[in-house]
Order: sequence, then structure tokens, then C-alpha cells
Amino acid sequence: MGEQQSPNAPKAAKKNKSEREGARSGAVGARSGSGSLRRSGPSATSASRSGSAQSGRGADASGPAASAALPGPSGSGDSPSASGSRGPARPSRTSRTSRSASDVSTAATGAPASGEAEARRGPGPRAARSAASASNTPGRAGGAGRPQKPETRLAMVRRARRINRELAEVYPYAHPELDFRNPFELLVATVLSAQTTDLRVNQTTPALFAAYPTPEDMAAASPEELEAIIRPTGFFRAKAKSLLGLSTALRDRFGSEVPGRLQDLVSLPGVGRKTAFVVLGNAFGVPGITVDTHFGRLVRRWKWTEQEDPEKVEAEIAAIFPKSEWTMLSHRVIFHGRRICHSRKPACGACPIAHLCPSYGEGETDPEKARKLLKYEMGGAPGQRLNPPADYPGRPAPPLGASPAAASDGPGVPGGPENPAGTGRGPDGEPSPTRDAG
Ligand code: SF4
Repeated sequence: MGEQQSPNAPKAAKKNKSEREGARSGAVGARSGSGSLRRSGPSATSASRSGSAQSGRGADASGPAASAALPGPSGSGDSPSASGSRGPARPSRTSRTSRSASDVSTAATGAPASGEAEARRGPGPRAARSAASASNTPGRAGGAGRPQKPETRLAMVRRARRINRELAEVYPYAHPELDFRNPFELLVATVLSAQTTDLRVNQTTPALFAAYPTPEDMAAASPEELEAIIRPTGFFRAKAKSLLGLSTALRDRFGSEVPGRLQDLVSLPGVGRKTAFVVLGNAFGVPGITVDTHFGRLVRRWKWTEQEDPEKVEAEIAAIFPKSEWTMLSHRVIFHGRRICHSRKPACGACPIAHLCPSYGEGETDPEKARKLLKYEMGGAPGQRLNPPADYPGRPAPPLGASPAAASDGPGVPGGPENPAGTGRGPDGEPSPTRDAG
């Protein structure tokens, strides 16, 4: 028998190989067709056969991220054709992603998880859940080095709205970070926030509004006295001039009331569109998008727009979201930019929306190292407001002249280790995003 089989052995082996390949191909095709396998390239096929990849999927399927939508680098996961892939198990992950998920899952069962919980005690359970979800899916949008189809406009809009929804869960307490009690105070504080931090403004305005509580009072102030009070905010001569000019205009043209219309606001000295939208959105309930340095940077990272000009950014983002979302969207994006998605060192490894971000990997991806980059309440440091809203989970900011220990308690506080001189730069080295005063 053995001697008779020998001549046919190569043919039999070839046939068996052909059958194996056909079966494998059919299996991949079937999974692709069912929508459960989004990436059917070699990595995905390899991952589906390897024990380690199976483990990674198992960990992933049982983790918090299992419920998240999973657009790929192009965001195609949010497209209708991929809707079937939103199940808890995500076999379409590449071996790279599966490894990451497995690593994070392992870490989540030990000390790092408790460290994360500690770091996130401020934002509360929803943020922790979102962060855990992101940690389990860190490479979703990072790509696996394989060419991706360009994201359609529809997929981008869906991804953008999903990011907004998830940010709303992470920052349910998002709010303007300037202390104010009325539209006049908000207008003045916003003008003062040019080229400085909201914290520095908040530490300065109590004395300012005690001395000049109304537009009439401020319009009658001596420039020298006004300059002395607002000096800590920097550019105090130009700002004093703007405050005197806008107070005089409010007194003479608007009956000492802050107008609630864009065209009136931008007619005031030192008031541009950003300042006007901050006032309209937060003092008058008029929806507006505030395009500051954080907002512009993040929406470009998320590929919502490629525009650099703030007015063009504003117009493109306005076309993506319903008007009712504009103001809160602005707060959420700015909160995220200040706390996690920093200009120079985004904390990608601790980012709750990493699975929706095409720029994942631009910053630190190691979860432990990324957690150390979190700022304000996310990093256990005081916030920017001396009088934050009641639902703010972090600590209030210290008043001007507080002890160095209070002022340097954490990386997010100007006057602390990253901004020892209170130079008017944010903790990430950026000027206050609400600037646009002259
Ligand atoms: S930190 Fe910024 S760049 Fe990094 S994943 Fe999050 S949103 Fe994207």
C-alpha cells in the first residue's frame, strides 16, 4: 500500500492544501458577510486563528468596551454597512489591537485599575466607565498600517456626534470656566482671559467687581487703578483700555445692560466673535460655537474639519451638529482639550474616546504614563473656578495669593510646577482659549 500511495502523495497534498485554503477563505468571507469581521486582511485572519488573539477577543468581549461602537481609522464602523459589527465580540480586531486590549485588560484586573480609579475619582463613575472603555479599545482608530478607505461624510458626521455623546458622559458637568454672576461680569472676565488662564482671571475678578460692580462704576474708574487691579492677567494696559471702552459703550449706548445680540456685542471695544459667543451662550442661552485654541486643535485631530481659520471652523462644525448642541459641545471639547487631549502631550492611553479618534497615538499611549498626564479634576488637581458649579466633581481653585502648596497642587494649576510664574499660559503651555480681546 505504501509503495502504491507514494506516486500520488504530492497530488493528494496539493489537493488537501487547496481544500484547506478554500475552507479558510470561505470562513473569512462568511464572517465578513455577517458583519462580524470588519478587517479581513491577513492580520485579522491570523488573529482569528491564534490562541492569543482569541484570548484578546475574549477579554475584549467581556470588558466595558464591548458596548462601544467601533469605527476603524476611517470611522467606517459607524457607517450603516458596519452596523452589524457592533456586537460585544469584535473578532475584526487586528492582532496589534488584540494585544493592546489584552494588555489593558490584564492591567485592569490589578493595581493599575485601582490607580486609574483613584485618578478618576473626581469625574465619577460615568467617566471611569468611559475611560475603562477607551482603555480596552485603544487602537480602534489608530489603524494597523493597512490602507483605509476615506471616511464618508455620513460616517464622519455619525462619528462626530458619537464623540459628542460620549464626551457628555465623561463631562456631564462641563461648564464655562470663568466665574461670573451676571452678563457684565462674564463679558469683562472673557475680555480679561485673553492671553492668560481662566484661573488667573478668576483670581483677579473678585477684587475688580468689588471695586466696580456695574458698567457705570467701571466707566468712571481711573485707568491707573483699573490697571493695578487687573495687572495679574497680563497685557493690563490694553485690557484696561478695552474695559473702559466697553463699559462706557454699555453705559452710553445700551443703558448699562449687556446686549444679547451678536452684532451689538462685537461692536464693543475688545469684543470679538469668540467673546461674543461665550457671553451669548452662557449668559443669554443663545447657542454658539466657541472656536478657541483647544476647540480648533481637537476638531482637526478628529478630522471634523481641516480648516484653520476660526470662522471657517465654526461654520463647518455648525453644519455637523444641531444648534441646540453648540454651546455644550464647545464646553465639552474645551474640557477634553484641557484635561486629556493636550496640545503637546495628549494622553491617548487614558482617553475615553480613543476608539473614535483618527489621531490616536499622537500622544502617550501607555495607560499608566497617560494617566499621569491628566489635568484638573481628572488628575486630582483643583479646577480653574474659585466658585465652580455644584455638580463639579473636583476641588475649587485657590484664591489669588494662596499658599504655594495650594497653588501647586497638581499639574493643572498655573503657579504650580508647570507654570511657576503664572505667566498667562495654561498648564499645557497655551494661552487661555477664550482670548480674542484686543
Ligand atoms: S487624547 Fe486626543 S489624540 Fe489622543 S486619542 Fe484622545 S482625542 Fe485622540
